[in-house]
Amino acid sequence: MDFRTTTLRELHEKLVSGEVTPGDLLDHSKSVIEDRNPTVNAFIEVFDGQDTNIDPKKGTLAGIPMAVKDNILFKGKKVSGASKMLENYVASYDAKVAELLAKEGALLMGRTNMDEFAMGTSTESSYYGVTRNPLDETRVPGGSSGGPAAAVAAGMVAYTLGSDTGGSIRQPAACCGVVGLKPSYGSVSRRGLFAMSSSLDVIGPITNSVEDAELVFNAINEYDELDNTSVLPEVRVRYQEKNTNGKVIGVPRAFLRLEGIHPEVLANFESSIKKMEDLGYTIVDIDLPTIEHALAVYYIIQPAEASSNLARYDGIRYGLSVPGDDLLDGYLKTKTEGFGREVQRRIMLGTYVLSSGYHDEYYYKARALRAKITEEVHQAFDQVDIIATPTAPNTAFKLGEKQDPLSLYLEDLFTVPANLTGNPAISIPSGKDENGMPFGMHFTAPMFCENKLFEISKDFERAILN
Ligand code: GLN
Repeated sequence: MDFRTTTLRELHEKLVSGEVTPGDLLDHSKSVIEDRNPTVNAFIEVFDGQDTNIDPKKGTLAGIPMAVKDNILFKGKKVSGASKMLENYVASYDAKVAELLAKEGALLMGRTNMDEFAMGTSTESSYYGVTRNPLDETRVPGGSSGGPAAAVAAGMVAYTLGSDTGGSIRQPAACCGVVGLKPSYGSVSRRGLFAMSSSLDVIGPITNSVEDAELVFNAINEYDELDNTSVLPEVRVRYQEKNTNGKVIGVPRAFLRLEGIHPEVLANFESSIKKMEDLGYTIVDIDLPTIEHALAVYYIIQPAEASSNLARYDGIRYGLSVPGDDLLDGYLKTKTEGFGREVQRRIMLGTYVLSSGYHDEYYYKARALRAKITEEVHQAFDQVDIIATPTAPNTAFKLGEKQDPLSLYLEDLFTVPANLTGNPAISIPSGKDENGMPFGMHFTAPMFCENKLFEISKDFERAILN
């Protein structure tokens, strides 16, 4: 048994036929976790007491071990955002995805590591220590969903859920050689997901194959009246008219000529896209003139929203509380002790770009550019069916290699546009570099056209495997 080479559908069939039981899968998951977690550190906490008395026919995910990023709420379980601020916090309600997984009969193995409050690209900023890439333990697994990606890549569980605000599902999936899907904004409910940057955050699956990603997505993709950014099915349909069977792939050439993209990444991208051409796809150049500003725009909007969302950790309502001489001193001490450096940096950046005298210059300008980028991307889908780029400008780097925040931010170059525009996007393994580290192919589809994304991604997966 190996979760890495057995699809969810195959696991389901084995469970239904009685060839294996949920108990067998649970034991297997525990033994791989025991074996690899001491060095990989994908799990912050392994839960026990799972009920393995599940009818496999309950759902396609019934009885199959999985795990979640440490920022998704399961009532009665600890959840910390990998922060000291919420070290012993226990969730008081279920996330919508938790309800849906329970309905499916999923076996929740535990909560996995991440960059603190999902800010980061390497899972080196967790209060619970770094996560290591299971393919090479001297390297990072990517981030911020480094724990969920590493858990899948090490075969500890069959799939995981992560969150993606600027690439946090797709980039670690690329670094660990697995599949990562960021659904359309408004498809999967954000209820019970830690709010980081509310206009960008999305929950999505990390899996071993596109087919698995589709299966998990279908299980968690449901309108939620308790999330006011959840989009009604009848509204989604209006967008889906772009869900044609076309085979035209758009490549934003000028975007690929920006500085800092590793030549090996570009070479891999060209040869991978060529494979799609061999399959009958047409590759065309597209012009997205504003997309080169996406990273700058993201690093204004993300900290702006994060700084207001994180104001709730004030040492009074919940979480860490460090007493001070007066109210302000208490805030200061709590936040200084509870938040790590990167989170503090983002709060300061966000407060700055929102402060009076500066919000016109930064925040409003970034919002205007975001609208322009969105318009350009949506228009591009009049000519093409999918947009392709590499997932990240580099493959998994060494632990500690990127110390300055800017070089880490640059890793988000290709992933942030889909968060700014809301479009669904996926990373699929696309071969390996000379160190044996995986490349990722990144596809973006029209809004709510995940089906199209899956269809083209499956073709790509087949092309790469052959
Ligand atoms: N790396 C990006 C950041 O640090 C994305 C994070 C995310 O998607 N949660 O903000």
